[in-house]
Amino acid sequence: LYRTEFLYLNSQTEPTEQEHYEAYAETVRVFRDKPVIIRTMDLGADKYTQSRRFVPEPNPFLGLRSIRFCLQNLELFKTQLRAILRASVLGRVKIMFPLITNLQELKQVKTVLRDVMEDLADESLPYNDAIETGIMIETPSAALTANWLAREVDFFSVGTNDLTQYTLAVDRGNELVSTLYSSADPAVLRLIRTVMQDAHRAQIDVDICGEMASEPEFIMLLLGMGIRTISLAPPLIPEIKQVIRSVAIEDCNRVAREVLGMSTEREISGYVRNATRRALPEAF
Ligand code: PEP
Ligand code: MG
Repeated sequence: LYRTEFLYLNSQTEPTEQEHYEAYAETVRVFRDKPVIIRTMDLGADKYTQSRRFVPEPNPFLGLRSIRFCLQNLELFKTQLRAILRASVLGRVKIMFPLITNLQELKQVKTVLRDVMEDLADESLPYNDAIETGIMIETPSAALTANWLAREVDFFSVGTNDLTQYTLAVDRGNELVSTLYSSADPAVLRLIRTVMQDAHRAQIDVDICGEMASEPEFIMLLLGMGIRTISLAPPLIPEIKQVIRSVAIEDCNRVAREVLGMSTEREISGYVRNATRRALPEAF
């Protein structure tokens, strides 16, 4: 997951197409032949800029954030899309759209992407017209309609931070309710399972890009649910890699089967922690 908000948050002014392009081009060059998944901007709610475009909202997490903001500010969105597409010829770039809530919205996004491709073609600027596109599954509505969304994209990325927040109606940044916030809640896990099943049927890839994948105790469960790709902050990679290398897939499958029959978060958390401790005592 390559978050692009820093381009807006670190600057007093809106980034230009060239500034976007240079940032993406540098990353793509560093990764050479490895895929780079660039997520379009996810501004609003917890990621505000100084820009006057953002007016205070009574309920910002349910408001004009992320892809919704982009679709209401097309010039800004198109600037970023042009830069990503221009960088797409430098390596293996994929593009990912955050906070999709329904099929109509996704179709609208794809129309904008096609418009931008046509503009670049008119200007004889090169881009990869077969660029892989994906969406983040961060809302219960996206998870519950994953079968339809899957027909429109090449991959899903489950954003467990937001998916947990929206499924449990718990503000992910509010300490007063932090004990209620857990990706081990059976409701969250059921949604992830639905997404996995629909993606499997449509034969598209799914990865996990929320903090859930950074917790050692969730790794067996995620592997058992069929996840094979996760996104991590670089400092966490060695620890999680060690967990993955220490567990047997048959045990992971068993953990997932057991957990998906459990009805409370407490039971699930305890179970996955014990299972991981057995496989890798030094992880705790
Ligand atoms: C998520 O919601 O899980 C996610 C990866 O996106 P962010 O944390 O940037 O909202
Ligand atoms: Mg998110």
